[in-house]
Amino acid sequence: MIALVTGAGGFIGGHLVGRLLGEGYSVLAVDRKERARWYQLHERAANLVLDLRDEKVSQSAIRGIDEVYHLAADMGGIGFIERNRVSCMRSVLMTLHLLESSAVAGVKKFFFSSSACVYPSSLQSTSETIHLAESDVYPAQAERGYGWEKLYGEMLCEEYAAERGLATFVARFHNIFGPHGTWRGGREKAPAAIARKVATARVVGLSEIDVWGDGRQRRTYTYIADCIEGIRRIVSEESLVATPINLGSTEVLTVDELIDAVEAVDADLFGALPSLLRRYDETAPKGVASRAPDNTLIRERLGWEPSTTFRDGMEETYRWIYGEAKRATEERREFLEDEE
Ligand code: NAD
Repeated sequence: MIALVTGAGGFIGGHLVGRLLGEGYSVLAVDRKERARWYQLHERAANLVLDLRDEKVSQSAIRGIDEVYHLAADMGGIGFIERNRVSCMRSVLMTLHLLESSAVAGVKKFFFSSSACVYPSSLQSTSETIHLAESDVYPAQAERGYGWEKLYGEMLCEEYAAERGLATFVARFHNIFGPHGTWRGGREKAPAAIARKVATARVVGLSEIDVWGDGRQRRTYTYIADCIEGIRRIVSEESLVATPINLGSTEVLTVDELIDAVEAVDADLFGALPSLLRRYDETAPKGVASRAPDNTLIRERLGWEPSTTFRDGMEETYRWIYGEAKRATEERREFLEDEE
């Protein structure tokens, strides 16, 4: 079997390529970033740098492919998606071209990575957590820009299945975190951003960190291994063709609880330090008040749901981000010393 993974230089794509190679697939891994910036570069895959928003490029990438895992998107955490709605919406070009090329070429399975951002903001505006079921998505009031692009992508998948017979699968990811992902630069999400701030505070010797919002926003966070396992299970379940499904943990944490957990991991790994002072910035982008998935459908259809605790997932994530933050700090120190 030959699989195309789009966005393979990114966080989830990099992990998925590894998993597919391990299962015996031949993999065409595509990303528009130069290879030096891919989070993981698997030597056994064919790794190509392509911009899939171009129709002809998408057509050529699909040639000879059995299964498509479409993870490429111009995206990031709330700070990025609130300020870059046009870039987010332009990702629909890839989805459209890849679906059309896949239907024409007779691709056997097409997986699309959707997001919890498709759910109406009106159901997520209070601190009372509503566990969002798949059917709650309509009447639609998705996150402006990014959320609407994902919702339209879902609809494209549903109609390509209904009219063109393409076996499409759609998962709504809920805040995926883990090693080998974006941890700085403006596109990172809350778990990586907080891990970076705590790690940097330890490495540099700071006593405080800034926090976006008031610390009370409630979210669930899904460990990357559960995300990859979920993708593989979803595409193996025929009854899920053209059926968007939540893929997320139901363990709800406030941002303050997230920071507590990261500090606890840091203390376990490197020894206890006084708690960091939290400087809350209520003018920073903070997203909806509360968001969590209802996992009834995934339990019913797959007899499975994500089960890694945040604490366990953060331990692996923190080790990696701590290493990256330490290396970046040392490189900066050397640079400054050379300048003197
Ligand atoms: P990521 O940013 O790490 O990876 C996406 C990759 O897509 C990037 O490497 C980027 O260079 C590539 N890309 C963007 N435009 C491209 C183009 N025109 N042609 C080729 N490649 C292009 O993101 P991720 O966290 O790995 O997310 C993967 C997918 O899952 C995305 O579609 C994202 O919207 C979705 N998703 C992720 C999360 C999450 O928490 N990480 C949550 C919900 C949905």
